[in-house]
Amino acid sequence: MDFTLSPEAEEMRLRIKAFVDTHIIPLEADRSNYDEHENIAEEPLGPLKAMAKKEGIWSLSLPVEDGGLGFSVVDIAPCYEEMNRSIFGPVCFNASAPDDGNMRILSQVARPDQKDKWLRPIANGDVRSSFIMTEPMPGAGSDPSVMRTTAVKHGDKWIVHGTKWFITGAAVAKHFILLARTSDDARRGLTAFMFHADQPGWRITRRIPIMGPEEHGGHCELEFDGLEIPDEDRLMAVGEGLKLTQIRLGTARLTHCMRWLGLSRRAMEIARDYVVQRVSFGETLASHEGVQWMLGDVAMAIEVGRLLTMRAARRLDEGDFARKEVSMAKIQVADTLHQAVDTAIQLNGARGYSKDTVLEWIYRYARQARLVDGASEVHKMVLARNYLNEGNDFWSWR
Ligand SMILES: Cc1cc2nc3c(=O)[nH]c(=O)nc-3n(C[C@H](O)[C@H](O)[C@H](O)COP(=O)(O)OP(=O)(O)OC[C@H]3O[C@@H](n4cnc5c(N)ncnc54)[C@H](O)[C@@H]3O)c2cc1C
Repeated sequence: MDFTLSPEAEEMRLRIKAFVDTHIIPLEADRSNYDEHENIAEEPLGPLKAMAKKEGIWSLSLPVEDGGLGFSVVDIAPCYEEMNRSIFGPVCFNASAPDDGNMRILSQVARPDQKDKWLRPIANGDVRSSFIMTEPMPGAGSDPSVMRTTAVKHGDKWIVHGTKWFITGAAVAKHFILLARTSDDARRGLTAFMFHADQPGWRITRRIPIMGPEEHGGHCELEFDGLEIPDEDRLMAVGEGLKLTQIRLGTARLTHCMRWLGLSRRAMEIARDYVVQRVSFGETLASHEGVQWMLGDVAMAIEVGRLLTMRAARRLDEGDFARKEVSMAKIQVADTLHQAVDTAIQLNGARGYSKDTVLEWIYRYARQARLVDGASEVHKMVLARNYLNEGNDFWSWR
């Protein structure tokens, strides 16, 4: 198995690294560039996005005909990792969640006229988007089959009623992908739709306060009270909502892993800078064996996460859903992010607990990694089910 990066991916990775080091990390160091939810404020973000676009570091994962660079999943992995060495990186390159996953799914399943209407403005960076699936109890969470939000057909329109929550970016999004129940069929009961923020019949009931810093537009609870969606804005066939979700989530979960590996590396960078300088008991911290074991553990975990991510990326590029591979990468890298930032805080001593570095920001952010896009336990359930079905073939070399 050859993990050598393609020349295009390596060239792009180096350009992204230079951009992040030169333009984003210095800006991140100045708290006046943060908005009230601890993300990059819109004022500094606008010029950075324009610069990234002008330099051609924009929408890497979209096909060229849809306004991107046509990179494979394998090729975006090192690039996304490099972007997220800054907490503000991905959004500057139109590579942050949920826009990134929404663009990819629209590129994969939308009709040409739907792409013009819904995808192009996101790919251009003119609007933001949200993906609406999760519901409060007793609706859909880990298990989408218990979804309660309904879309009922009246003539050539669908009328939506229900409640959703934790919808990332909803307060600023203009384009929404919505999953709703259209029948009681166990496998084909859900359908996906597009709607625009300006359409009547829905509202944000609250922006849910969370423990970590927020994506632009927060995580919102939404109420649907008669939203009308023309049938032409349905995505895929009636009953194919679950299928759309499976197509979207495979790559979306893996791009989280790519970004979290970048954040893990950044935490290590901050730890390394400190331990090679700080002296305790006659030697630098880096000279103490106990410190070396901590650093060694994280260094290895990042490499393990990267290998699992690259293997899953290859399977996705081959057209497979890569459920096992993506689940393994997601569990591993979510844990690695926790381990990396926790270790970095510990090695920075009191400084690690302060706001003088971005470690505390990453620490609070990291907690969502074991929950979003499938809790770790649910991914372990997927692995166990595969193992029980396949036995020793689970580890086949194919
Ligand atoms: C920061 C953030 C952003 C999000 N953004 C979005 C978004 O943009 N759009 C969207 O639709 N949703 C979003 N979500 C929701 C997210 O996808 C769900 O939180 C996730 O799917 C888990 O669902 P749940 O929270 O309802 O957990 P539940 O289903 O209520 O499960 C609770 C816990 O029970 C355990 N559990 C559940 N099932 C099993 C099982 N089968 N076996 C063992 N243990 C189990 C797990 O520990 C799990 O954490 C977001 C969530 C967060 C925290």
